[in-house]
Amino acid sequence: MRMVDLILRKREGGRLTSNEIDWMIQGYVKGQVPDYQISAMLMAIFFRGMDSQETVDLVRSMVNSGDVIDLKAIQGIKVDKHSTGGVGDKTSIVLGPMVAACGVPVAKMSGRGLGHTGGTLDKLESFRGLKVEMEMDRFVEIVNQVGLAICGQTANLVPADKKLYALRDVTGTIENLSLIAGSIMSKKIASGADAIVLDVKTGSGAFMKTEKDAFALAHKMVEIGELMGRKTVAVVSEMEQPLGNTIGNAIEIREAIETLQGRGPQDLLEVCMVLGAEMLVLGGKAADHADAQAQLRKGIDSGAALAKLKEMVVAQGGDGSQVDRPDTLPSARHEAILTAEEEGFVGALDAHGVGEAAALLGAGRETKESTIDLAAGIDLHLKIGQAVRNGSPLATLYANDPVRLQAGLEKLRSAYRIQAVAPTIKPIILGRVSL
Ligand code: URA
Repeated sequence: MRMVDLILRKREGGRLTSNEIDWMIQGYVKGQVPDYQISAMLMAIFFRGMDSQETVDLVRSMVNSGDVIDLKAIQGIKVDKHSTGGVGDKTSIVLGPMVAACGVPVAKMSGRGLGHTGGTLDKLESFRGLKVEMEMDRFVEIVNQVGLAICGQTANLVPADKKLYALRDVTGTIENLSLIAGSIMSKKIASGADAIVLDVKTGSGAFMKTEKDAFALAHKMVEIGELMGRKTVAVVSEMEQPLGNTIGNAIEIREAIETLQGRGPQDLLEVCMVLGAEMLVLGGKAADHADAQAQLRKGIDSGAALAKLKEMVVAQGGDGSQVDRPDTLPSARHEAILTAEEEGFVGALDAHGVGEAAALLGAGRETKESTIDLAAGIDLHLKIGQAVRNGSPLATLYANDPVRLQAGLEKLRSAYRIQAVAPTIKPIILGRVSL
C-alpha cells in the first residue's frame, strides 16, 4: 500500500477501505507514515469528507491505537458526558456531582484548555493539592467509594488522536465532521463508559458555527456510538455567548459551587439539568426526564450534590474546606471593570472573543507547554439581551499581571456589541438527537 495513492483517491472524492484506514492510522502512530502525508490526507478529508462507514472505521482504528480502559470493576451503568468544547463551560464540575448524588457512577476523563477554550482539569487544579493524574486502579477505587472521579487521560489512551489533533490544530483541519467525530468518539469508547451523553455546542465559541453543522455532527456521533455498542444521546446547545457568567479557572469553580448551592446562573443550570436527565435515564436511575429532573433538583436542594463535590475533591487529594470557603481559592492581585460607552442592549457577546480575552489575562494556554494563572478570569455582569446604560459595568476582569489586564480589557471590549433594539434571545438547548 502506498500513502500517496490513498491521498490521491481521497483528493478525487473516492473512499477508503477499512484496511486502508487502519494501515494509515497505525502506520502514523508508529512513525511509519510521515506528518506531511497525513497533513495532505487530512486536507483531502476536510474537502471531500468521509462517509459513515469510513468514519466508523476511523474511530475503530483510533481506539485500537492504544489502551482501552476497563471499568467493569465499577458497579452500575457508567455514563460519560462529553462537550465538544466551549467558553465558560464548567458543566462537568456541576453535573458530575449532581448525577453521582443520584446514584449513577461518574468516571470521567477530561482534558485541559487550549486556545480560547477552557479545560476541566485546569479548573479542578484550583483546589489546593487536588490531583488529576492517577493510576487507573485508584481512579476506579474513588468512583466505587465516592461515585465520582475526574482525571486526565492516560498517556496511551488513543495516541492516534494525540498526534492527529496536534496536526489538525496547525494545518487548518479541525472543523470537519468526521475528524471531530473520530477524535471525540474514539476517546469516549476507549475510556470504557457503557453509555455516552454528548453536549454538541454551536455558535461563535464552538467548533460548529452553525446549527445545521452542529446537528449533523450530533447525528454522526450518535450513529457511531450506537454502531459501537454504546447507548448514545446528543444534546445540541448554544455557545454564541459564554455559558454562565464566569470564564477562567478558580472563578469557574466558584460559580460551579454556587450552582450546586442552588444560586447559579439559569443557563448553566438548565444545561446541567438537561444533560443530567439524559444521564440518569441512560444510567437506569430514572424512568423519564421529569423523574430525573426531580431527583437532580432534590440533590441540589438537599446539599447532597455539593457534598459529592467535596467528597471527590478530598478523595483526589484536594483541600475540601475550599468547597465551603470558595473565597480561599486562588484570587488575583489586580482587577478592572469594563464599562459601557453607550446605551441600549447587549446585542452580541462573542464567546470566542471572551475566551481569547480570558487567555490574554493568563487563564488560558497559548501552547500546550504554557502555564496558566488559576486566578485570572472574567466575571460577566451583562449578557445578551440585557439593558445597558452609558457607564454600566459590563464585566470585571482579574489578572496578576497589569499588562495582561489591559490586553484582556481591550479584547473583551471588542467582544461586546451594544445595539439600540433588544435582540431576540435563542433558547440555550436547541435540540436532542438519538436513534
Ligand atoms: N474535541 C475533541 O476532542 N476533538 C475534536 O476534534 C474537537 C473537539
